[in-house]
Amino acid sequence: MDRKQLREAMLALLEKDQVLYEDLDLMYYSYDSSFLTKTERLYPDVVVLPRSTEQVQAIMRLAYEHGIPVTPRGAGTGETGGGVALHGGIVMDLASWDDIVEVDVPNMQVVVRPGVVHADLNDHLAQYNLFFPPDPGSSKMCTIGGMVANNASGLRAVKYGCTEQYVLGLEVVLPDGEVIVTGGVRSKAIKNVSGLNLTKLFVGSEGVLGVITRIRLRCWPRPKARGIVMAVFPALDDAPATVLEVYQAGILPSGIEILDQSAIRAVNQFKPEIALPEAEAILLFEVDGNPASVDWEGTTIREIASRRASQVEWATDPARMAALWEGRSVTATAAARVRADGSRVFAGEDISVPLSRVAETLRRIRELGQQYGIPVVNYGHIGDGNVHTAPVIDPEDPAEVEQVNRLVHDIHLLAVELEGSTTGEHGVGAVRRPYAELEHGGAVKVMQAIKQALDPRGIMNPGKLF
Ligand SMILES: Cc1cc2nc3c(=O)[nH]c(=O)nc-3n(C[C@H](O)[C@H](O)[C@H](O)COP(=O)(O)OP(=O)(O)OC[C@H]3O[C@@H](n4cnc5c(N)ncnc54)[C@H](O)[C@@H]3O)c2cc1C
Repeated sequence: MDRKQLREAMLALLEKDQVLYEDLDLMYYSYDSSFLTKTERLYPDVVVLPRSTEQVQAIMRLAYEHGIPVTPRGAGTGETGGGVALHGGIVMDLASWDDIVEVDVPNMQVVVRPGVVHADLNDHLAQYNLFFPPDPGSSKMCTIGGMVANNASGLRAVKYGCTEQYVLGLEVVLPDGEVIVTGGVRSKAIKNVSGLNLTKLFVGSEGVLGVITRIRLRCWPRPKARGIVMAVFPALDDAPATVLEVYQAGILPSGIEILDQSAIRAVNQFKPEIALPEAEAILLFEVDGNPASVDWEGTTIREIASRRASQVEWATDPARMAALWEGRSVTATAAARVRADGSRVFAGEDISVPLSRVAETLRRIRELGQQYGIPVVNYGHIGDGNVHTAPVIDPEDPAEVEQVNRLVHDIHLLAVELEGSTTGEHGVGAVRRPYAELEHGGAVKVMQAIKQALDPRGIMNPGKLF
């Protein structure tokens, strides 16, 4: 089937406004937020915007029959090339299918279609005093479908975990067009151990096993109070040591963020009025819950941090909390500005390592940056060892692009060497695929066997994961 026939076949299945094929439209879908798509444009042959399970089924049946690749896509905020078509074919944009189907307040769950934006869902749930806890930085853009497909999380994962913990069931259209429901076809149960856990299989499957068309999520009651501790450390190793002592005091903060010296300097250069103290590291602890427990946890963390920190502050006043958090909230933007002619590279950007090796990781990344002559800004979710690395280069300079690709490769190898993972949040997509065997060994064969069983023609998001 050539491109023109494919476009006509899609127009026969869908309304005119659900099929895109003009060059400008295809260009829009040729990138996501990855560095890969800054250097290489990957065009689909056609883009479809289905808005029902039946439409997704019809598209998949046709694609399956003709062996046409299909790449599901949400908002395209992924950092790994996951939502772009490596081998042409169909990009299936699910972002406009954004119904909140049901909020089941007594059963603490919500049913949504894949295109609902994360922040919109939480705005809607607020009236019921509920929330869906994972909190990616892309909250105002990314879709729930994309979050499930990538098992997304955020800075509160230390207490609330990743998306997988909240997915109770899914409707999935398989590559041949068949529909299945995981987690029980009629179930509204929160607890369910019946059968193989297919829900977990599809969470984090990055679009290689099927199209997620309906999601049943568990919600949690909203915490009533919140507070922030900021602690400044002259010695880097004192930061993880303090985190460990906070855990050993029986406290599980809702967020523990680190800014190392590179991030502190980047923030101060970007917004001098924030005036973060010069130090090897700054930690920000967020605690949430009921007012009495928040107060006890905050004051206890302040006392523990004071043993090593040169400066500590504990705040519950909203304006003061926002001021303490401001440095962290501008870090990503500040990182991109450390070089006037530079641009931040989203690659090797979210390795995760054991907590006991965070300080070593930050030092080794600093050394790698020096070795390759590339400024690197480090920050991240120290509470779960998820380090965000921001190399800054001139992306128009091929020599710098080559150097940064080497740097990023070494960062990925470092993560595995230090008993961690090449990705704690953003997933594998196209860019971390080369590390699959290094990270998972023989388990990759089992992943491939599952893929082969569900997608024998290899049409679902080919070229991703393994
Ligand atoms: C500024 C910024 C901040 C970010 N912060 C975080 C963060 O804190 N934590 C984090 O985890 N991530 C973060 N990300 C990465 C990204 O936002 C998440 O991975 C998000 O879950 C992707 O959602 P999306 O809707 O944009 O999906 P897309 O990028 O469109 O797709 C991502 C993957 O999911 C697949 N997919 C999408 N929808 C479906 C579906 N319905 N069925 C099957 N497969 C599907 C795609 O094929 C692709 O492989 C950030 C990105 C940016 C740009």
